[in-house]
Amino acid sequence: MNVIFHFLFNYLFVDIVFDNAWSYLVIILIFSVLIDFTHLPYLLKVGKGVAKKRFGSESRTRFHEMYGLTLFSAIVCILYFVIDPIMIEIIAICIVLHFAIDFLTGKSIPFYPYSKKEVFLHIFPYGYREKVLFEISSTILLVVLFWLRIGSLVS
Ligand SMILES: [Zn+2]
Repeated sequence: MNVIFHFLFNYLFVDIVFDNAWSYLVIILIFSVLIDFTHLPYLLKVGKGVAKKRFGSESRTRFHEMYGLTLFSAIVCILYFVIDPIMIEIIAICIVLHFAIDFLTGKSIPFYPYSKKEVFLHIFPYGYREKVLFEISSTILLVVLFWLRIGSLVS
């Protein structure tokens, strides 16, 4: 899923759970998109060919799979004793939701680098046109929900 979707979904989720996501806006933004920086080696490798190849399972490093989830979870557990507990809970939610959304909506290789078996749950469409339409429409829906939520903060 795209980074805008990840940020907006995580923001709304945190706002529903903690009712104060606006105070953690930057933290939510950073930890919602941080994992997607692991696509950089793939982007550098394929260059302009990314428009054709897109972001399938081959675009993921070990840090975007179960290996990364385990590593980030261990780091979050250690930081729990150092950082404000609410902030670390928000960071953990953002990281876990990112992994969950990517796993539910796309193709992944969860046990990479130990196994290259690709998994796709077929919950959401994966044909190019259907996936693009789903991604655009769900992102627009989240923008509207975000806007309504922000609007209720202002008034
Ligand atoms: Zn991702």
